[in-house]
Order: sequence, then structure tokens, then C-alpha cells
Amino acid sequence: MFNLVKGTHDVILSEADKYSYIEQTLIQVAEYFNYKEFRTPIMEYSELFQRSVGDSSDIVRKEMYTFLDKGDRSITLRPELTAGVIRSIVNNKLLALGDIPIKAYYVGPCFRYERPQQGRYRQFNQFGIECVGVVSPYRDVEVISLCYFSLKMLGFKSLKLVINCLGDDESRNNYKEVLRNYFEKHLDSMCGDCKERFKLNVLRILDCKDPADQEIVKNAPKIEDYLTEKSKDNFNKVLKSLDELGIEYEIDRNLVRGLDYYSDVVFEFHYTSSKGINYGALCGGGHYNKLIQEIGGPKDIEGCGFAIGIERIASVMSDDSLFDEIDDSLDCYIMPLDISYQDKALEIATSLRLNGYKSDVNLEGKGLKGMLKKAIKLSSKYALILGEDEIKNNSIVVKDLSKETQESIELDKLIDYLDEKENENHSCSCHHHEE
Ligand code: AMP
Repeated sequence: MFNLVKGTHDVILSEADKYSYIEQTLIQVAEYFNYKEFRTPIMEYSELFQRSVGDSSDIVRKEMYTFLDKGDRSITLRPELTAGVIRSIVNNKLLALGDIPIKAYYVGPCFRYERPQQGRYRQFNQFGIECVGVVSPYRDVEVISLCYFSLKMLGFKSLKLVINCLGDDESRNNYKEVLRNYFEKHLDSMCGDCKERFKLNVLRILDCKDPADQEIVKNAPKIEDYLTEKSKDNFNKVLKSLDELGIEYEIDRNLVRGLDYYSDVVFEFHYTSSKGINYGALCGGGHYNKLIQEIGGPKDIEGCGFAIGIERIASVMSDDSLFDEIDDSLDCYIMPLDISYQDKALEIATSLRLNGYKSDVNLEGKGLKGMLKKAIKLSSKYALILGEDEIKNNSIVVKDLSKETQESIELDKLIDYLDEKENENHSCSCHHHEE
């Protein structure tokens, strides 16, 4: 027996179904917004993340899986996907004037050497989007609304958008200086992390979770007093547009987010269930105005994106029973009553599948009773029984497991028969042949 690597987990069986369902829903919404898929390598040169995620971020300082390959190159397993996606956009010269914006979505594993705990893994999956092009506050709004629609589609009802404006470079540099002056006086009494953050990126002190430090943060100068007119105007346009779209928000002047590349708008979506459980942030993102240039792209091209943790979404959805409405049942379970009928059963299964019926075949034997038990366990709608008579007559017995009725049907009429029954039931609209 081999143990799992610490912080990793198997996503199997019904858990994998949940992940696929989440990913497919997210992809579908992204495609409705005209986003295209980007699949970039899991390994990148370490410098890419040092440059983009930032030397002062916890991710780069403490959490990267970095190693030297046999050619002595420093390689890192991606801790997030934005950097790789932007690198690919730049490397593939996709930013020609006529082609922007580039709208990319991605899904795949990320690696962070974090302390494993409930919902925190060392290998986890993210879905996200990046919209890269010229600047407009309405692009930011589009990205935020995509995120909002995605979460709504997954069944999250009461969402709260938490939003802040970190300002452009000028705003942030002015603000950082004022913050440094303020925190310098309090630093002795603050936690070790904040002392580090003071040196590396003073803004990060604002989202310290230590209650004593939060008291000090409460009285700190606020970014809104240091925003340039341009940043302020931009942010107000975003807020006004969100009002018009009916997306409720709360401005949190201490929302910074842990990646150094963000500027101007940053956001998170928080969720409270109908039972009143506050699950906190489901995902986060924001605008970045220097990242593309930092990675070797042209000046004056900016972007906005967000990332959603699939593990996080799956665990909240399970906890809040949001998966209950997903239908993972089978349409047909085919039961050959003798080993010699198995090839015929496979042939029938193939025809059913090609006609849009999710089907499985029993090849394990165990007699009629055992097979029926299995059909019920798989939540199959129909059990299809293939016995001696049926083989002789080229027919099959179709047992409707919800109604406890059964009929013998000629094989070449099987699909028509099932189609008709489905129409009567007005049930499954997912069969391709009905569309
Ligand atoms: P970030 O890339 O840090 O902005 O995180 C985006 C989302 O990824 C978060 O909202 C989490 O849901 C998810 N996430 C980040 N780190 C982890 C982790 N170690 N394990 C599981 N999910 C994570």
C-alpha cells in the first residue's frame, strides 16, 4: 500500500462527477461570454511566477514546488494559472491591435506547499478566466458579471460581491508610503507575519487575520483618500454599472488579495447559505495593469480575471445540498441472463448509447435477482432483460423500474419505444435524438 502524497487527494467516482459538473457549468458560461480555452503547461520557469505573482507574496516566498531539472534549470509547478496564460498570450503574439481583447478561460491543477487543512490542498484545481486588452471599466464589470452568473448557474443563491479599488501605480505608491508611516509606529506589537509584510508589501498588512492587528488596521489610513482622479472615476463607473446589473456589493477597503499583480479593482464573491451558514469567499480576482508588460508583452495592455477553486465549490455545494438536483442516473441497464448472450447485450448497449441513452451492461452474472438489485443501485430508469425467449425472438423485455411495469419489445423497435415513453414522461430533455 502506498499513501497519498501529503496534501493531495483522489477525485473519484461521484466526487469526480461533481467536479465535472462544476467544470462543465463554468466552461459553458465562459463560452457564452465568448471566452476560448487555453491549456498551458503545468511546469513553467520559476522566474515567471517570481515576476508575476511577486517576490513578496506568500505563494512565491513559501509555497512553490520549485526544483532544478537535470539541466539545472529552475522549474516550478504552477501555483496559479494567470501567469502561464498571460505568458502564452505574449509568446504567441496574440495581442495584435485587431485581435484584442483576448478572452481566455482555463481549468486545471495548481500546486502550493500550504499546510493541508479542511478545503486546503497542496494539489488543487482552479477554473478561471483572463480578459486581456485595452482598458475599460466595463471589461472589469463583464468579468465580475461572468463570475456572478457562473456561481448563480451552480445554484448559489445569496451571493455577496466584496470589492475594493487598489488604485493605479501612482495611487498605490502614495498610499503605501502613508501606510508605512502609520504601521511603523505600531509594528512592535504586531504579529511576525505583519513585520515581514511591512518590509515586503505593506498593503498585505490590511488583510491580516490576527484580531489585535485588525484593531490597528481599523484606524489605518484608507486607500480611498489616496486614489488618483482616474482610479476613482474608474471605480465609480464599475460600481454604477454593477448597480445597473443588479449585482449587490459591499466595498471592503481592506481587501487586498494575496497576489502582487493586482491593481485598481479587486473582488471576491462571498456566500451565505439559506440555512445561514457563512462560507466566506468562493473565488477572487481583479484587474492588473502591469502584468502583461512584466511578462514581456506590450505596454498599455491591461487585463482582468478571476479564479475559482473547484475543491472549494464542490465542498460548499455538497455541504449545502446543491448537488441534490443533479441527475446522475442511468437510462438502461442491460441484463443478459446467460454468458452466451453477452455479445448481443453489448450490441444493444452500443445502439442505445448512439441514440443518446446512457447505458450499461451486466457482464458479471449473478442471476436475474442480483442483476435487478444492481439496476436499482445504479438508479437506472429501465432494466432490459435478455433471456432465452428474447434471444430466440430477437426482442428484449423492458422493465420500467419507476412504474414496476414491463413489456417485451422487438429489438428493431426498441429505440422508438423508449423515445415514445420518454416523450410521455416529458422527462429527459438531454437525448440528442430528441433535439
Ligand atoms: P487565489 O489564486 O489565491 O486567488 O485563489 C483562488 C481560489 O483558489 C480560492 O478562492 C480558493 O477557492 C482556491 N484555492 C487557493 N488555494 C487553495 C488550496 N491550497 N487548496 C484548495 N483551493 C485553493
